[in-house]
Amino acid sequence: MEVLVTQRVKYLQATVSHGVTPVVIPCLAIFSHHKCSAKKFKKWFISDIILIIVVHYMEVNMLLFDAPPVTVVPIANSDKEFPVHRIYCVGRNYAEHAREMGKDPDRDPPFFFCKPADAIVLDGEPVPYPPRTENLHHEIELVVAIGREGHDIASENAESYIYAYAVGNDITRRDLQLDSRATGRPWDTGKAFDRSAAISCLYPVDQVGHIRTGEIELSVDGEPRQKADISHLIWSVPEIIAELSTLFTLKPGDLIYTGTPAGVGKVEPGQTMSGSIAGLGTLTNTVTMR
Ligand code: MN
Repeated sequence: MEVLVTQRVKYLQATVSHGVTPVVIPCLAIFSHHKCSAKKFKKWFISDIILIIVVHYMEVNMLLFDAPPVTVVPIANSDKEFPVHRIYCVGRNYAEHAREMGKDPDRDPPFFFCKPADAIVLDGEPVPYPPRTENLHHEIELVVAIGREGHDIASENAESYIYAYAVGNDITRRDLQLDSRATGRPWDTGKAFDRSAAISCLYPVDQVGHIRTGEIELSVDGEPRQKADISHLIWSVPEIIAELSTLFTLKPGDLIYTGTPAGVGKVEPGQTMSGSIAGLGTLTNTVTMR
């Protein structure tokens, strides 16, 4: 009996902490495993509810402070939201952009850096002008949302790991990024700051198909700044997934910003950045005062 109760506590802990409907699953499990009578089932049911409350109370109180909320991105034509795990970004993945950054795309292949999940800014939300910069830049990008776990993925299979696509803006403190680049230091201060990862809602593959070509563009206050075609990516989306998955295990909830085309430039407080990708939607964010 004691063993059984401990097992049930563990089982309930798992279901509670994984957010699975914590009443239905244990009840079904108990009912099927023990084949108990309706009367006994009712008794188990009530005792399980008490256990759930106790376990939940214990779990909540084991944390020093409230756990940070999960960052979520809305999904087009759905009530569901996409919980963000990690944000990976590709650097210099369009030849013209590599050149405008003073690099030779034939000598310097693309590479990866990361942003924290809570850097997400949704469509329509303001981007407060960040501290410690005088040169804030927009970078319109195709974003890939990963829907299943995998590592060492072959590029031929890579598209099957994609749940959705989105329009993204890899907002950059260019002065800090270039300082880091010049001194050989990490890019975090230039790239991974608060509210630096703007993203539209997600467009699931089952609604829009795979995005392999099509215009990508961004304007600031209606003035065109960036314009290119997705087919100009140096590493295609399947190649990015294949390469990235040799370095990290990709998980559902991962977002990959695939790189920006040429035409990056400065934005000032009060200006509105508006971008779009053919086959997807738009992403609009206004930079607000410091
Ligand atoms: Mn970028």
